[in-house]
Amino acid sequence: MSGNRLDGKALAARCTQSLAKEVEDLGREGIFPSLAVIQVGEDPASTVYVGNKEKACQKAGIRSQIHRLPADTSMDALLERIEALNRDDAVHGILVQLPLPAGLDAQRVILAIDPAKDVDGFHPVNVGALWSGLAGEDALLPCTPAGMMAMLEDAGVDVAGRHCVVVGRSNIVGKPMAALLLAAHATVSICHSRTRDLASITRQGEVVVAAAGVPRLLGAEHIQPGATVLDVGIHRLPDGSLCGDVDTQAVEGKAQWISPVPGGVGPMTIAMLLRNCVRAARRQAGNKAKGSSL
Ligand code: NAD
Repeated sequence: MSGNRLDGKALAARCTQSLAKEVEDLGREGIFPSLAVIQVGEDPASTVYVGNKEKACQKAGIRSQIHRLPADTSMDALLERIEALNRDDAVHGILVQLPLPAGLDAQRVILAIDPAKDVDGFHPVNVGALWSGLAGEDALLPCTPAGMMAMLEDAGVDVAGRHCVVVGRSNIVGKPMAALLLAAHATVSICHSRTRDLASITRQGEVVVAAAGVPRLLGAEHIQPGATVLDVGIHRLPDGSLCGDVDTQAVEGKAQWISPVPGGVGPMTIAMLLRNCVRAARRQAGNKAKGSSL
């Protein structure tokens, strides 16, 4: 079995192109999808991520506004800015770049964002809709897991009835990925930092999602022949190169499909953010027409 790379970059480019077409169509109806991104402080990685989101919006024709706030911004000032964006009808999506500087409470920030504008899909209303199966076709799903589901679909990997193992239980990646796999009828195991004998569990995975944030945690001994491996991790090594949570070289001869780092899950995360912006704009315009505030 030879490893085929899951080309997230190419799939993201296709998604963005088709979203650009949708944005154009919405424009003809007088709807102009718009994203507001708040960055507090000047964390260099966050600045790169925010810049990438801005560029991606441009490619899809989505309007974007970046709110750069100083690192010493108070919680009240941050909440006020979010509230103003919640009230602004011209803004359809709000994203606060995480992590926040010490002293600011990310949980309060997530709760403050109007669930209808929560394009990260982190608000408990959207999380609850996902787990209870009420999310529907135009749901605001967390971007990284939604991107991985799109990659599986594009590769023709049907997870129904298959054992899928997710390594990591964060609210951003691991848990929502497990929810999406379950909704797609997979049998799901979730592993985490307290899991004993990780390899004995990941080896059972026909699909393995590596989202532990540990460089090259998974090697050949963790993967069964013919498995599909999705690598979420991104790590900068001392020599300046990037690697993921999977030792790609060791695993690619064994896996049927493997997502590379870079060029795998990362670009799809941004593509799904754009998709959420378009969905949010469409939903808000529809609700306005119906006279609903939700
Ligand atoms: P996190 O630190 O919030 O969570 C990591 C999870 O992995 C935890 O649940 C922990 O229990 C588990 N874990 C840690 N060590 C483990 C071990 N040895 N064995 C098993 N489980 C272990 O991280 P996160 O936000 O979920 O992100 C995970 C990784 O994905 C990070 O490298 C992050 O940079 C990357 N990431 C990439 C994208 C993308 O778009 N490509 C998006 C989000 C996160």
